[in-house]
Amino acid sequence: MSLILEVAIPVPLNKTFDYLCNQKATVGARVKVPFGRKTVIGVVLTIKDKSDFEKLKSVEEVVDDTPILDQPILDFLLWSANYYHHPIGEVIATALPKNLRIGKEAIIKKVVGLPLKTNEPDFEPTEEQTNAINTIIGALGKYHGFLLHGVTGSGKTEVYLRIAQKALNQGKQVLVLVPEIGLTPQMVSRFESRLNTRIVSIHSQRNETQKLDAYLMAKSGEAGVVLGTRSAIFAPMPNLGLIIIDEEHDSSFKQQSSFRYSARDLSFVRAKQANIPVVLGTATPSLEMLKRMIDKKITRLTLAKRANGALLPKVSLLDMRTETGVALSALLVEKMKQYLKKNKQVMLFINRRGYAPVYFCTECDWKAQCDHCDTGMIYHRHINRLKCHHCGDEKIPQSTCPDCNQASLEVYGYGTERLEETLCSHFPDTAIIRIDRDTTRRKKSFEQHLEQINSGKPCIIVGTQMLAKGHDFSNLAMVGVLDIDGGLLSSNFRATEYLAQLLIQVSGRAGRSGDQGEVAIQTRYPEHPIFNFVLSNRYTQYAGILLKQRNQAMMPPYAQYALLCANAKDKTLAEAFLNEAVTLLKRIQIDSVELWGPVANTIEKKSDYYYFNLYLQSNDRKALHQLLSTFNQHAHTLKLKNKVRWYLDIDPIE
Ligand code: ADP
Ligand code: ZN
Ligand code: ZN
Repeated sequence: MSLILEVAIPVPLNKTFDYLCNQKATVGARVKVPFGRKTVIGVVLTIKDKSDFEKLKSVEEVVDDTPILDQPILDFLLWSANYYHHPIGEVIATALPKNLRIGKEAIIKKVVGLPLKTNEPDFEPTEEQTNAINTIIGALGKYHGFLLHGVTGSGKTEVYLRIAQKALNQGKQVLVLVPEIGLTPQMVSRFESRLNTRIVSIHSQRNETQKLDAYLMAKSGEAGVVLGTRSAIFAPMPNLGLIIIDEEHDSSFKQQSSFRYSARDLSFVRAKQANIPVVLGTATPSLEMLKRMIDKKITRLTLAKRANGALLPKVSLLDMRTETGVALSALLVEKMKQYLKKNKQVMLFINRRGYAPVYFCTECDWKAQCDHCDTGMIYHRHINRLKCHHCGDEKIPQSTCPDCNQASLEVYGYGTERLEETLCSHFPDTAIIRIDRDTTRRKKSFEQHLEQINSGKPCIIVGTQMLAKGHDFSNLAMVGVLDIDGGLLSSNFRATEYLAQLLIQVSGRAGRSGDQGEVAIQTRYPEHPIFNFVLSNRYTQYAGILLKQRNQAMMPPYAQYALLCANAKDKTLAEAFLNEAVTLLKRIQIDSVELWGPVANTIEKKSDYYYFNLYLQSNDRKALHQLLSTFNQHAHTLKLKNKVRWYLDIDPIE
């Protein structure tokens, strides 16, 4: 007798598909099925004996004898699909490594070995660390959320290592999520040198075989620790005993395409499901986590002092209103000289790669713009190209102005490349190391740069935000922060929160061992309130003010947001689709949800597509989700649905 399988297939449709099957099959196994004119790999969700549909097609092959997704992971994925209103087939595709997605056999090629030897630390945990460690260990075996709020260099990683060891001793597995592993190879090596277990890492720089092996070793329980970026939240771990999220505030935990999930937010769901603690560490808690703490949903553990006794750096402002046209204020150059003379390292942080952000005509108002996006093009000198940082388009710059024909084209502003050039003229005898996506594109070059810095020799490091996180450069004494004023003027309601976090994180790179470090921030807005708090390292007080503002304005985390975005090459279609959506949403009529829009996106045109947004806002999460579910059920009635690209983003961060 043949059974009926309900199968999830990776297509952007909010439904599952029934197939006949006369072979043995289990829930969670992969099956090869005909779909349209193709054959695709799907995953069995349920086995049943009746279907609402007639004339079912048959399964071609059952790929797995045993489930590739066990019931707890399936439940977690179904919950996620439901919460983010995203098709389960695509959610499952996000969770599986590519080789499993395309139907390859689920066998481990090369078992990761146990570390040859592990080292014990040559210090005892501080009182604050001990308190945090003991509190978390006391909670192993039950659900609890902890915010490990420790200033930069306070020894949060040391806390992770000790609680992980304890969970491992109890026969449990540990899941550690980090923002961008490729950027912090030290994190992996610190875990490997301390924990006597198999550690697998899951991130974009691993090849497909390594990713498959890591997945399967997590699933079999052979790997004690899974260390990964956001998608590792879906790693199957039958003995999961602890989840750690490092740099909780980091926006890379939110996926910004296709299945738009937040690994940080999902970590609570996974921890609850497995009945285990989740620990979120940061020096600069997100407003979301601070609100959870105020609501007593999570417990804060504080590390207020740097672990090795080093002082937090001294922070000062450099007023740029009197310094026109220069990248570096005279005072900053003077300070840098002093530190370099003492054989120290200095880092300058500027969040723009390339030579100069503006290529313009001094005679008329012409500016080099991207033909495909509503943005200016960035000049890159070493390749003599204008580049669009949104769509990647490149052009060779003209030598005369296309509008007025004068030979009066110039650059304005600074990127890392031009800053490096300026530094060479100020400091002809000092090594300058530039770290941005252009200088680290080759796989090994980032690590080589890091090695050079870690040698401790005096140098100037110029970098983008790639450098803001997690690095521990012991001879780095001073940090200069350039060109952050954009963040003060941005229209994104999260901009000041992000800027405060960034300034504290960047500052945290300075003076981590030994003498007190120094941080100098260049700005044209020295009276902005953010600096009152950043200068005195009072991030939490500033966050408190932002929380109050969000509460008054009914914005996240005090209200639930969802975004319906539509984009099309035809501007009127994108907007018209959202107007159609508004009509449908109003017909469904849920009073507690407010609609706002459609409005054009801040950057309206990207890669020839026009972007429009419709925001949905509510105090009532249930009502909002109810509305979105009903909307999705009726979305097929929208006339323009196939003429535009559209998606839902739940808890959007932009
Ligand atoms: P964080 O993760 O909070 O930035 P780390 O865990 O990287 O901090 O610790 C900063 C430095 O302090 C590291 O070099 C670490 O080895 C050291 N450290 C951590 N805990 C202690 C301690 N209890 N005593 C002395 N040094 C410590
Ligand atoms: Zn001109
Ligand atoms: Zn472009």
